[in-house]
Amino acid sequence: MSVDLLSLTPDAARQTLAAWLAARGEPAYRLRQLAPRLWQRPVARWSDATDLPAALRPTLDEAFSLRRLELRTHQVSSDGTEKFLWALADGEAIESVLIPEGKRRTLCISSQAGCALGCVFCATGRMGFRRNLTAGEIASQVRELVIRDPNLRPTNVVFMGMGEPLLNWDAVDTTLTTLNQPEGFGIGARHITLSTVGILPNLAKFAQRDEQFRLAVSLHAPTPALRLELMPIERKYKLPDLMKALRQFRRRVTLEYVLIGGKNDSLEAADQLAKLAQPLDALVNLLPLHPGGAPDLTPSARASMLAFERRLKQRGVEAVLRRSRGLDISAACGQLRVEVEGTARPHKVRAEEHAHIE
Ligand code: SF4
Repeated sequence: MSVDLLSLTPDAARQTLAAWLAARGEPAYRLRQLAPRLWQRPVARWSDATDLPAALRPTLDEAFSLRRLELRTHQVSSDGTEKFLWALADGEAIESVLIPEGKRRTLCISSQAGCALGCVFCATGRMGFRRNLTAGEIASQVRELVIRDPNLRPTNVVFMGMGEPLLNWDAVDTTLTTLNQPEGFGIGARHITLSTVGILPNLAKFAQRDEQFRLAVSLHAPTPALRLELMPIERKYKLPDLMKALRQFRRRVTLEYVLIGGKNDSLEAADQLAKLAQPLDALVNLLPLHPGGAPDLTPSARASMLAFERRLKQRGVEAVLRRSRGLDISAACGQLRVEVEGTARPHKVRAEEHAHIE
């Protein structure tokens, strides 16, 4: 049976390849030819690695078939944002969004097909949970871009696409290593952000990693009662416990906050949010709900968003009001898949909480 090298860490993949080469009596230097083809200079299939002996390539394809993501839809927004809908081998579909900004190319990747958490402002949440992605499927969202065009190699990666990464911790743990290590994609830890609603046991595991990966927390409400209305996860992992965990986190945290008209955008809410953010010295990312909004929600008025941001700043909190990107395509978490599959009304279900820009 073919081994899925792309779901292993670079170290484990090298060990597997080294053992295979040794068993076949191949010279040890072959490893230096093979390993970079996984992530550093990726090939679609081993037969494309023309620097390898012709006889070896089909054997490699058989032993270690490189599982691909099939590009089903590609949309480019007028602001340069690109959205990719990938089909997985079993027919499930996931999305990635590439957001260029100056020299930076941030890729927003998915960690699950669908999501079980049902946040009311989120298109993916309405889709329900389909399955966890393998580490190879997560990392391949970067790999496929590089195969298409090495110039698309992202400088930054954010786990803010479909799914809750801390509910797929083992695969995400491996992918963090692959993204970061020089033998993988070599993306600096400070350029890799994990976004979570706060799955506390796995947040502790993420916090224990030595690398300086960044953490963004989808907060979206400053009180337990309002959070419960917007995010059912509040029933299991409560806001005060989440804040306690964040106070113990050794690095600076970003708090994500989607502004929803009449729900969480009052000045009183800004004051409550400031009280949560201050002790953490957190950066607050304010995100407009996409125009059209989720079915029962409306975006905040521009004036309310600006007033909310101003109030946070007056309270000494560093806050940034993000602009929506990719408004003319479906650059919201779960949006493209919803449109392609027609499982919800097109252009009516828009949320921005995950597909935002750092
Ligand atoms: S916002 Fe994130 S956690 Fe909530 S339903 Fe959407 S994908 Fe899941």
